[in-house]
Amino acid sequence: MSKVLDGIGASEGIGAGRVHILNWGVPEVPHRSIDSDEVEGEVEHLREVFEWAKKRLLDIEDSTEERLGAIEARIFEPQVLMLDDPELIEGATLYIRENRLSAARALDWRILEIQAKWSRTAHPMVLDRLNDLQDLQVRLLHQLLGLPDPTDVSSLGEDVIVITRNLTPSLTVQFDPALVLGIAADQGTRTAHWVMLARSLGIPTVCGMGVVSEQARAGQEAIVDGRIGRVVLDPDEHDRSLFRERETQILAWEDELESIAQLPSITADEQPVELRANLDMPGEAERARLHGAQGVGLFRTEFLVVGRNQMPGEEEQYQAYRSVAEAFPKQVVTVRTFDLGGDKFPMFLHMPAEENPFLGWRAIRVCLDEPELFRTQLRAILRASAHGDIRIMVPLVNDVEEIRQVRELVEEEEERLRRDGIPFNSGYKLGILVETPAAALEAVELARHSDFFSIGTNDLTQYTLAVDRTSARLAKLFNPFHPAVVQLLNSVSRVAKSAGIEVSVCGEMAANPLGVFLLLGLDITTLSVAWPSLPEVKKMVRSFRMEDARRAAKAAVAAPTSREVVECLVKGIGGSVDLSAFSGRWNLPTSH
Ligand code: PEP
Ligand code: MG
Repeated sequence: MSKVLDGIGASEGIGAGRVHILNWGVPEVPHRSIDSDEVEGEVEHLREVFEWAKKRLLDIEDSTEERLGAIEARIFEPQVLMLDDPELIEGATLYIRENRLSAARALDWRILEIQAKWSRTAHPMVLDRLNDLQDLQVRLLHQLLGLPDPTDVSSLGEDVIVITRNLTPSLTVQFDPALVLGIAADQGTRTAHWVMLARSLGIPTVCGMGVVSEQARAGQEAIVDGRIGRVVLDPDEHDRSLFRERETQILAWEDELESIAQLPSITADEQPVELRANLDMPGEAERARLHGAQGVGLFRTEFLVVGRNQMPGEEEQYQAYRSVAEAFPKQVVTVRTFDLGGDKFPMFLHMPAEENPFLGWRAIRVCLDEPELFRTQLRAILRASAHGDIRIMVPLVNDVEEIRQVRELVEEEEERLRRDGIPFNSGYKLGILVETPAAALEAVELARHSDFFSIGTNDLTQYTLAVDRTSARLAKLFNPFHPAVVQLLNSVSRVAKSAGIEVSVCGEMAANPLGVFLLLGLDITTLSVAWPSLPEVKKMVRSFRMEDARRAAKAAVAAPTSREVVECLVKGIGGSVDLSAFSGRWNLPTSH
């Protein structure tokens, strides 16, 4: 019997192969006391192993830079810094000298102490750091004990699905996407470093699964679907045929990709629809362009801060924003200001532990309280605006006052640039993400102060329904087709229309076939989706008539339950789109 397990779909694509359980645990370290004449030898041994680890990390950093780019390579910096941190090496040296412990035992103790100290803060911010530290611990202790390095994954074999408790950036980056066809992990979120790397490598990934490493057995067959966040262990004939269908579709799409990218993005009755891309890293811009993106509707900038020990400099940010602007010379590039907090925490900000981080110090609230961080980003975005149609988009706005404050800061930075004779485009647009019920209900006021709206349906759904977007347990309740969400979407769209400003949607809903149909029917004709979804969304758009979408959306807005919303949409699409081809990949709310 096949076993189906769900988690967070974190890297697009589907892969099938043989399970390799990656157990890269911490080795058992025997207690060993040493004689006084061994002390200096052990201290030297420890120092040599640190040197070795540093060299290895720097090699991985170099090869990452070569394969994936400079920004991806920088995620190894915190680990390199940890190796230089006296708290670690000097602490362990002291235990060798004063307690006469072997180098391995001394280091083991020191790391346990640091882990306990960090864990006591019970803060998600330290999770990435603990993850980095554990990676070092495994590598250093194996080396000190003369054991083979379990993080050396050079002999994994072919057609492998890696299943593990958790991964680290340095492990992930060693995976060859031609051999590792999928990853499934108990832990991890979309913004974990290793997950971002898996995405850059194009390896289908499902994370945050809770139990997959306990349920899977080495050598068994598995399918990983990174889009819907599903792993099938011991797939049966039905699962295999779904997999083959999906794989064939992806392969056919890849062939079709170029031609679809060239096709105009219009409905069957020739209404234009603007399709833009969501990017997590600048390196994705080129692929987004090849997938037919008409600009960037959401450039998430947290990659510049999460996991870093230091605030990113203006120059580095400017280069990153500029590179995306240059990939889309004649199109809109919407840079979202830092959306920190929630599930994204930079080390250098020392964010407070909060009971409900998604309701806490997040996004624009953080930026307005940290003007140095925010001003540097605004300045870098303004400078990049000299190279294209760059827009500034502010997340989690609830209040006009917040937009006023942002405008003031941007204007001050404009003034400084002018004084310094640095070019920028003074005609840039400044808009907001509508992602709380408060913003949706205050849309009339907010529209007076915004140049555009983009609706973040991921957060809008989370906050409207009070359903944590990261909870696998609540995934079934996370329903953007809930009548409350549909009504908010409808009203924001109407407000934007009458205010004469652009409204788009950049949440996951815009990549869902029923979502596309509904949104177009609500007159939201600019959509921004993760770039791999662009051809599929364009195909959808081209297959139905705007007239039908409007009629169905009108009925959906009046529908009293989620089930009836979905029924209106399914009926409205009628025979023009084969929804059964989608239902397996999307948790489309069913009609019962
Ligand atoms: C959203 O909330 O819908 C959105 C697009 O932003 P993010 O997913 O980055 O929160
Ligand atoms: Mg959001």
